[in-house]
Amino acid sequence: MDELPLQTPARFLPGVGPVRAECLARLGIETAEDLLWHLPRGLVDLSEVRRVGELEPEILQTVRGEVVELDDRRISGGRRMSSVTIDSGDGFLKATWFNQSWILGRVQHGSAVLFSGKPKRRAGRWEMTHPRLQVIDADDLEAHGGLLPKYPLTDGVTMEAMRRITREVVDRFIEHVSDPLPEAWLERFDVVGLADALTGVHRPGSVEAYHAARRRLIFDDLLEFLLGLALRRRAWRAGGRAPRLPVTAKIDSRIRRRFPFELTSGQDRAVEEIAADMGLDHAMHRLLQADVGAGKTAVALYAMLVAVAAGHQAVLMAPTELLARQHWQTIEELLRGSRVERVLLTGNLTAAERRKTLERISSGEDVLVVGTHAVIQQDVEFKSLGLAVIDEQHKFGVMQRSRFADEESQQAPHVLVMTATPIPRSLCLTQFGDLDVTTIDDLPPGRQPVVTSVIWDKATREKAWEFVREQVTAGRQAFVVCPRIDSGEETGEETGEETGEETGEETGEGTGEEMSEGMGVEQTWERLREHELSGIAVGLVHGRLDVDDKSRAMQDFRDGRTRVLVATTVVEVGVDVPNATLMVVHHAERFGLSQLHQLRGRIGRGSYQGYCFLLAGRQDESAAARLEVLDQHADGFSVAEADFLLRGPGDVLGVRQHGELPLRVADLIADRELLEETRTIAFDLVRTGEIDGEEASLLHLRVLERFGELMELPRTG
Ligand code: ADP
Ligand code: MG
Repeated sequence: MDELPLQTPARFLPGVGPVRAECLARLGIETAEDLLWHLPRGLVDLSEVRRVGELEPEILQTVRGEVVELDDRRISGGRRMSSVTIDSGDGFLKATWFNQSWILGRVQHGSAVLFSGKPKRRAGRWEMTHPRLQVIDADDLEAHGGLLPKYPLTDGVTMEAMRRITREVVDRFIEHVSDPLPEAWLERFDVVGLADALTGVHRPGSVEAYHAARRRLIFDDLLEFLLGLALRRRAWRAGGRAPRLPVTAKIDSRIRRRFPFELTSGQDRAVEEIAADMGLDHAMHRLLQADVGAGKTAVALYAMLVAVAAGHQAVLMAPTELLARQHWQTIEELLRGSRVERVLLTGNLTAAERRKTLERISSGEDVLVVGTHAVIQQDVEFKSLGLAVIDEQHKFGVMQRSRFADEESQQAPHVLVMTATPIPRSLCLTQFGDLDVTTIDDLPPGRQPVVTSVIWDKATREKAWEFVREQVTAGRQAFVVCPRIDSGEETGEETGEETGEETGEETGEGTGEEMSEGMGVEQTWERLREHELSGIAVGLVHGRLDVDDKSRAMQDFRDGRTRVLVATTVVEVGVDVPNATLMVVHHAERFGLSQLHQLRGRIGRGSYQGYCFLLAGRQDESAAARLEVLDQHADGFSVAEADFLLRGPGDVLGVRQHGELPLRVADLIADRELLEETRTIAFDLVRTGEIDGEEASLLHLRVLERFGELMELPRTG
């Protein structure tokens, strides 16, 4: 089929012209094809026809009747008022228009018509102002107001105009649309053809037809995306050999001896799956997910030591400098007395130190490397990288994956990705759909669920502080988290350090004195030291401190020199201080649930009971409902699902600033079932090689056009 006509510029289309074309351009519409893909957000259903006696005031309805009276008169202000009255057999309805006398030319006494509009009852009579008027055949008993698509609009293009233009475009151009799915697959996957689908959304014959049409468009949207992921996975597996990193019984017991604890059975299973992958000569791409505190670090370290034992290097990348340092400390403790050469690569080395470090890495002298994602991705060359562990991946942005494959030698390392909190299933399928998944489904023994309370009122708040004081005096430690750095007026963006740290510190409308109380971390720190926690050593950490001050503040807290740490969400992810058992969150309503769960995960890691107080700024029903989820669910998997349903994918991933998911019709919440279905189809098409066949060439091309660059897909199938 000749697709060229679809590229007809919008301004040459009927009903458009140069002025409207500019308006349409604001919606990203340049061509006839763009208009076909300018999809309605929903339908106005005027298919139910009522009689006057059945009308309800102020809601959109369609009435059928016979014209019994026409009127046109001049009214004050030089305007004209035209009216048409109909009889529906059980009552009268009068419709009026201002300055649209031409309406009267469309009807005459006795015409059968449909009016669609919102009726009002005035002086005992039903009236409609500016209704939609449809003249019908008096014999057509089936006639109804139809199903009208509702389009996203822009200034200069009304809904009526948009409907008219799209209708024209469908009529003239739909025959040029070619279907990326082969005919035979329509039945196989139970979808309608693409041309029918586009016609069906713009000119639906019935509500069912509209839904079937939309389903096909969503199907394509998801299928193409998931095919992209499936192709990327295949390219990874095919491109470059990975070193075999076998685990012998001897290696296994040598590594296990390093840990001061027995691995849980969940950790054991994870280690087994990972070791099995690493023993193969194609690269592992595995996601490790677990609830907060389940002990992913130990699993990651096990894998790294497997690589080292096999004579290769391993790297661990963290999203922030703070976490990189913490991982480094953990590793230092566990490897005390070991001969494994290792290095922490941070952003604040001098040029000379940095050069020396990079040399040690490229010569293979250092085998174990820890650093931030940003630092490591810049210019680090490894001698023989066997494993890359990426911690808390979703903090990095949606589609980024590290690339370590060495193009010359065709060598690729094994890759293990770890998420900060459990990911809802539909997000997992889209964000990490190209990875194998390992889930640790238990926690180390002796963990008690954190007692979580949501606090709204002043009296309870005071009691909570009293409790914190008692606990701290008894030897425990506490985190206090605030949403912002300053309390004052809008301070603009408050981001983290040069590593691209996202502190998630939200900007808010905090204007009034009371509103902003407890908002800013600095003021809170001062206030607590003077009042609620006077006499107690209170530390402060936030994203605007420089790296050294930050790590000093963390170290002081870790070593117990400070008993309370007032912080922004820099402590959100991964910070591990087992003696900390209290978490107070100011303005908890400003945080996402997964984020709060993550914060709560910072405490109760040791043997003492953990307590989390969520101080909420203002009683508000939806905030209350949200925060209660945390009260009710202790495990991160349920919290993640609830957060996802309540706030949508962007908020859960913290990806607002990275742009939306690259889907154009599908909605990860509403279309979850179809997502599962298309995921199976996509991976089957790649596994069987059908995607490379002649039949699928158009589909394959679509995938490359849409996602080739984003997913770095190879051009040749
Ligand atoms: P996360 O999965 O959230 O990254 P961490 O790796 O930080 O969790 O581990 C949380 C805490 O649990 C750490 O203090 C760690 O030493 C401890 N831990 C990990 N595994 C075990 C285990 N099998 N038994 C006891 N404690 C463990
Ligand atoms: Mg962690």
